[in-house]
Amino acid sequence: MSNSKIWLSSPHTGGTEQKYVNEAFDTNWVAPLGPNVNGFETDISIFLSTQEEIHTAALTSGTAALHLALKMLNVCAEDVVMVQSFTFCGTTNPVSYLGAEIVFIDSEWDTWNMCPNALQEALEKYKHKSVKAIMPVHLYGMPAKMNQIQNIADQYGVPVIEDAAEALGSHYKAQNCGTFGQMAALSFNGNKIITTSGGGALVSKNKAYIEQARFLATQARDNAPHYQHSQIGYNYRMSNIVAGIGRGQMEVLDERVAQRRTNNQRYREFFTGVDGITFQTEPDADFFSNYWLTAILIDPAKTGGISREDVRFALDAENVESRPLWKPMHKQPVYEGTKFFGSGVCEILFEQGLCLPSGSNLTEAEFDRIFSALSEIFKK
Ligand SMILES: *Cc1c(COP(=O)(O)O)cnc(C)c1O
Repeated sequence: MSNSKIWLSSPHTGGTEQKYVNEAFDTNWVAPLGPNVNGFETDISIFLSTQEEIHTAALTSGTAALHLALKMLNVCAEDVVMVQSFTFCGTTNPVSYLGAEIVFIDSEWDTWNMCPNALQEALEKYKHKSVKAIMPVHLYGMPAKMNQIQNIADQYGVPVIEDAAEALGSHYKAQNCGTFGQMAALSFNGNKIITTSGGGALVSKNKAYIEQARFLATQARDNAPHYQHSQIGYNYRMSNIVAGIGRGQMEVLDERVAQRRTNNQRYREFFTGVDGITFQTEPDADFFSNYWLTAILIDPAKTGGISREDVRFALDAENVESRPLWKPMHKQPVYEGTKFFGSGVCEILFEQGLCLPSGSNLTEAEFDRIFSALSEIFKK
């Protein structure tokens, strides 16, 4: 049996990506604009527009999308942004680029995302400060409790920017993740549910935001025959080559969601009857996760002493990649001393949590290897 590396989440092309990329070459649209960029933006907008019309700007990364979203809300050094602590640095870095103060918000047990109660407490404490944005994240594809978060945000009049980088194809109360906040960021990095090799998008119901984002993302070039600038811009536009990959990937997005959800189901069946294993789980029928990654908690007090690290090492010994959950950002050295509201739920999630191989292209033989390594350790 082959012992080649089994990845956590590897790119899975659908077959038509190269057609769009070749078209770009054949027509010499080898540029940061062109028909693939327009087509990809339209595909995303159509996919997301279930209730209201959504507009899309394709960009170089999800991080760039969040940076522009914060710029659009005029976030600057005197301001405060409330961010889910349990996340990837792509959420927080753009806030720091702008020099704003971050206040970290804990997770809750149901979705593992932003805790509405901790958010409320933080907003109450900071009601005399200039709080410019709230950033919840739909981690591993699981929708955050957007109704409650939005209600609290409205109470304090603070806009929400959704980090939907991991949640394309997820929805909550039949509304797509990425369509709740004033703006949302998507990512098409190589490990996401669909990929452009690297890229992202800013999406919004508000067309003016998207037009302004396109302007800022192309060096803020004013309308003039020469190069004229009255603002500082960025070079954040997606290339027409990369967007060609995205167009092909959009054709298989629904299939990828179904495949990831099937993976999740397989792990649930495997762990049935094993004590001490908890899955990140849709709390009720309102929640629909794309289950981008299947994530579990391993409680050594209930597994007979088997810890997260024991499982990770056992898989690694079989050349199977798994990964601890995100380390809370308020525990990162770079954010030492930053304010945090909550009881530390995300710290326990980090301590006990593991992401299992979740690629939509995992083969039967690879699942056999994963389950045989897990059976070994859980004596199944
Ligand atoms: C991937 C990711 C990002 C950043 O996206 P990039 O395209 O890699 O810049 C931001 N937030 C979360 C939660 C992510 O998983």
